[in-house]
Amino acid sequence: MQFSADEQFALELDREDPGFRDRFHIPLGKDGRPVIYFAGNSLGLMPKAAREIVDLELESWAKFGVDAHHAAGTPWYTYHEQFREPLARLVGARPNEVVCMNSLTVNLHLMMSTFYRPTKTRFKILMEDPAFPSDTYAIKTQIVQRGLDPKGALVLARPREGEFTVRTEAIVDLIEKHCDELAVVVIGALNFFTGQFYDVPAIAAAARKHGVIVGIDLAHAIGNVPLSMHDWDVDFAVWCSYKYLNAGPGAVGGAFVHERHATNTKLPRLAGWFGNDPNTRFRLHLEPEFVPVASADAWQISNPPIFSMAPLRASLSIFDEAGGMQPLRAKSTKLTGYLEFLLNEIGSDKFTIITPRDPNARGAQLSILAQKQPKDLHNKLIAAGVKCDFREPNVIRVAPAPLYNTFHDVWRFAEILRAA
Ligand SMILES: *Cc1c(COP(=O)(O)O)cnc(C)c1O
Repeated sequence: MQFSADEQFALELDREDPGFRDRFHIPLGKDGRPVIYFAGNSLGLMPKAAREIVDLELESWAKFGVDAHHAAGTPWYTYHEQFREPLARLVGARPNEVVCMNSLTVNLHLMMSTFYRPTKTRFKILMEDPAFPSDTYAIKTQIVQRGLDPKGALVLARPREGEFTVRTEAIVDLIEKHCDELAVVVIGALNFFTGQFYDVPAIAAAARKHGVIVGIDLAHAIGNVPLSMHDWDVDFAVWCSYKYLNAGPGAVGGAFVHERHATNTKLPRLAGWFGNDPNTRFRLHLEPEFVPVASADAWQISNPPIFSMAPLRASLSIFDEAGGMQPLRAKSTKLTGYLEFLLNEIGSDKFTIITPRDPNARGAQLSILAQKQPKDLHNKLIAAGVKCDFREPNVIRVAPAPLYNTFHDVWRFAEILRAA
């Protein structure tokens, strides 16, 4: 697409495709104008319908008490089940492979408790570096839990000297090199820092060829890029729902377990009553034996937190209304491409875009490495009504979200950056 730096061009694109901005509350800046909200990769904006849906559940509690588990409009007993299909569409899975539960790091631990089964010879875990700190803590402590030392058990894939992103070949080479000792590969599909979208199918194929389990962190990928967890033959995946999924702070996340494992009720796992077959779940004292459901639900431990799940309904219905990830990705590629175009126009001596230039190797986010006084620059952006985030030591992450950001947001951002 041919872009133009003319303001009218941005306004015209917004007229052609207004998106779903009117479904969201856009925070206002000090001047009373909506801020340029490019922080949807940290906390997505609030769908206006969220309040009503949470109110509905509070109302059910008030009206029915314990009976709401069965009498509420959407009965609480099976509340999590309504998310199966919409989430399966977003991650590219079959409904029985998906469960809405917990938060991301908790789910990573739950998955590792099943899938990390180190032996004397096969005990290593491969990750990317830098990974999100919480993932690193989880994986290191998983290793220590099994009486092993992360020094010998953790293999890290790093960018080459002078580069910012990890090449797929580097990951594949490490898998080949350690193939007999690797137990699990854990990669964030979309790196939180650089915005790099990894070639997940290539990584998964390389690992699976050697019988290595593949776990994918979808924190920055779900709701951002189209995914095919099932067809890419990933073993498990985990995500949170408060970034591009706009389900609110600490929203309930989810997990994907490939069908070949999800239907295997013999797998070791950390169990609780909501992973039990729903038909015998309530025969508490009569049947002390855990009978796992033959689906991803078997990893669910506790009963679902209804009030934290409710906003996800508002959010997922907007994704469905938008026609799913394909049209959103098309818009997102254009928005982020426009941002890249305008940044190129400003010139590259003051900053470097460390996110891959290939649109297929990134999502919505561009990470801008500021050469000089990066904190100062970030403060100027904030003062001018931009909400984006700063990562030490010198990277500003901006993520125009296709559901609610506009081309004019991108245009204004570039003007503000130029002036700063
Ligand atoms: C945001 C994010 C998390 C957050 O973890 P929670 O357990 O939901 O707090 C974890 N990993 C990655 C890669 C993230 O981007």
